[in-house]
Amino acid sequence: MSVELVVPISAIEHFAYCPRQCALIHCDGVWSDNEHTVRGTRAHRRVDSGKHRRERGQLVLRGIPLWSEVLGLSGRADAVEIAEDDAIRPVEYKAGVRHGPTADLQLCAQALCLEEMLKAEIPYGYVWYGGPRRRLRVDFTTALRNEVCGIVEEIREQLLSGQLPAAVDDERCSACQLLHHCLPQLANAPRKVRSYLKDVVFGCAT
Ligand code: SF4
Repeated sequence: MSVELVVPISAIEHFAYCPRQCALIHCDGVWSDNEHTVRGTRAHRRVDSGKHRRERGQLVLRGIPLWSEVLGLSGRADAVEIAEDDAIRPVEYKAGVRHGPTADLQLCAQALCLEEMLKAEIPYGYVWYGGPRRRLRVDFTTALRNEVCGIVEEIREQLLSGQLPAAVDDERCSACQLLHHCLPQLANAPRKVRSYLKDVVFGCAT
């Protein structure tokens, strides 16, 4: 495994959502906010403050830098809880509701970094969702850990190749922050391009 190119932990969630979104953000440097990302930024204000505190008998560290030399990963944990028995739990904050396992993968990558950094075992962590205002436990199973390692390698290959994957052009696109940069309707089929140009640019039916 080549770890010469360090993969940002944030890329895991982008890749799991859509490999093309990951390439646009992390290869091409494209960024655009939509209602979901703005809500996410607002929800992160407290965790981004970096202020540590004691809550319900445990130490809560915020904005902790993370890295793994084994996996070639770096990033930051929203929060890391340390209980009185020294149990360590990473916590990821999401503004909305759960959208599949993307946040679980990101959280598991954080746990893999913490395990390597602290020589600790971390069997589970939490993702806090602002929509329902509750947090869900994520167990770091062998299957989830293996999936994270596989995705990290796929992202590394993508970053090294600089290739832009095809647009998925499905239900993910309507909620995607890069919809207007990606133009998934145009990206895949020449026939769709002709149809788009007739409909949108020239305003006539196909
Ligand atoms: S608009 Fe669709 S295809 Fe394009 S990056 Fe977003 S999810 Fe992927």
